[in-house]
Amino acid sequence: MTIAVYPGSFDPVHNGHIDIATRAAGLFDRLIVAIYDRPLKNIWFSPQERTEMMRQALAHLDNVSITHYNGLTVDFVRSQGAQVMVRGLRMTYDFDLEYQMALTNKALIKEIETICLFTDLNYAFISSSMIKEVVAAGGDVSTMVPEHVKQALLARIARHSGG
Ligand code: ADP
Repeated sequence: MTIAVYPGSFDPVHNGHIDIATRAAGLFDRLIVAIYDRPLKNIWFSPQERTEMMRQALAHLDNVSITHYNGLTVDFVRSQGAQVMVRGLRMTYDFDLEYQMALTNKALIKEIETICLFTDLNYAFISSSMIKEVVAAGGDVSTMVPEHVKQALLARIARHSGG
C-alpha cells in the first residue's frame, strides 16, 4: 500500500490544487492532503478554515484524507507511514524551489521520495497569492476556485473592510 502526502499552505485551495490532488489520488492507494499551519506567508485563513475548504473541494475522492500539521514536512510524512510526497509544478520558477526543497528533504530523510506532477495547462497561471490579490481588488475568481472558496474569500474581504 503506497501512501502519499500532498503538503502545502492551500490559502486557499484553488482549481490547480484540486487537479493535482485528484490525479495523485488516482496514482496512490491513499492520499493525505496536509495543510501547513503556519507558513511564512501572508495567510488569510486559519488552518481549520483551510482544512474545511479543502474537505469540501475534495469530497469527490474517497481515498483522500485532509489534515493540518506543524514542524518539518518530512517528519509529518514519516509519522503517517507515507513513502511519497507529491508536489505540483507550474512554471520554471517552481522548479528551482521544488528542486531545492526535494534535495533538502532527501538530506533529512532519504527514504521519502518527492514526486512532482505538472500542472494542467488550464491552471498554470493560478496561485493562491494571485487569487487573493484579484479578490482584494474586486475581481472575479469564479474560474479559478470552487464556489464555496469564492464565498469564503468574499466574506474575508467583507470582514476586513470594516463593512
Ligand atoms: P506552498 O506549498 O509553496 O505554500 P501552495 O500551498 O500554493 O504553495 O501549493 C501547494 C502545492 O501545489 C505546491 O507543490 C505548488 O507548487 C502546487 N501548486 C500550486 N498552484 C498550482 C497550480 N496552479 N497547478 C499545479 N500545482 C500547483
